[in-house]
Amino acid sequence: MRRRLAAGNWKMNMTPTQGAAFIKEIAPLVAGAEAEVLFCVPAIDIPAAVEAAKGTNIEIGAENFYYEAKGAYTGEISLDMIKDTGVEYVLMGHSERRQIFGECDEMINKKLLAALAAQMKPILCCGESLEIREAGDTLTWIEGQIRSAFTGVTADEVKKTVIAYEPIWAIGTGKTATTGQAQEVCGMIRELVAKLYDAGTAEAVRILYGGSVNPENAAELFAQPDIDGGLVGGASLKLTFEKIVKA
Ligand code: PEP
Repeated sequence: MRRRLAAGNWKMNMTPTQGAAFIKEIAPLVAGAEAEVLFCVPAIDIPAAVEAAKGTNIEIGAENFYYEAKGAYTGEISLDMIKDTGVEYVLMGHSERRQIFGECDEMINKKLLAALAAQMKPILCCGESLEIREAGDTLTWIEGQIRSAFTGVTADEVKKTVIAYEPIWAIGTGKTATTGQAQEVCGMIRELVAKLYDAGTAEAVRILYGGSVNPENAAELFAQPDIDGGLVGGASLKLTFEKIVKA
């Protein structure tokens, strides 16, 4: 059985003080939830968020890191630095990192390999633009992103990786993929994992949907057979994220 995951992505929102206060406020609302509850937060918020989440079922993750161990990379943070705070989950391949900060498939593969080598829990994002969807190339595009990200990754490591399917046209736009569209791509990703690895790995890997998930649409999306939870941006900044966790 795959455990459901409700993962928030705060993006560049919340100061350390605001983030800690929010965690303390939402903690009693999600206490005892069946799903795993995670907030991926900006690097500077991590220590305060980890402290605020102590003794709760909330986990804290990092939104970003650099794959090199250390050195002359001004402004970057390493996996060792993140691990030292007690954080396990790390995001990679988010479309905002790809589009705004120019992270390419090769870099995302390096990030995934580095996170796995560091015994972290990676959340690998993939997703197509509106142009790609309208051209009918979604499945080919996603397959390319997944094949590239998983280069050199073993079946056991894939099982430890969470894949998040996030159509770019649905992120922060209020435009959610229909349950049919979300399930089609998540199902295809699971089939691809079976083809690249084996049926057991495909059965074990968790696949999330992300893109304007909110308390109203969460239950229907998460009821799909190949959707194991959500990666949630805007709606993870509100206490009503509780409803998404419970969905
Ligand atoms: C995201 O940031 O990964 C995301 C899906 O954002 P939103 O839920 O705001 O669309």
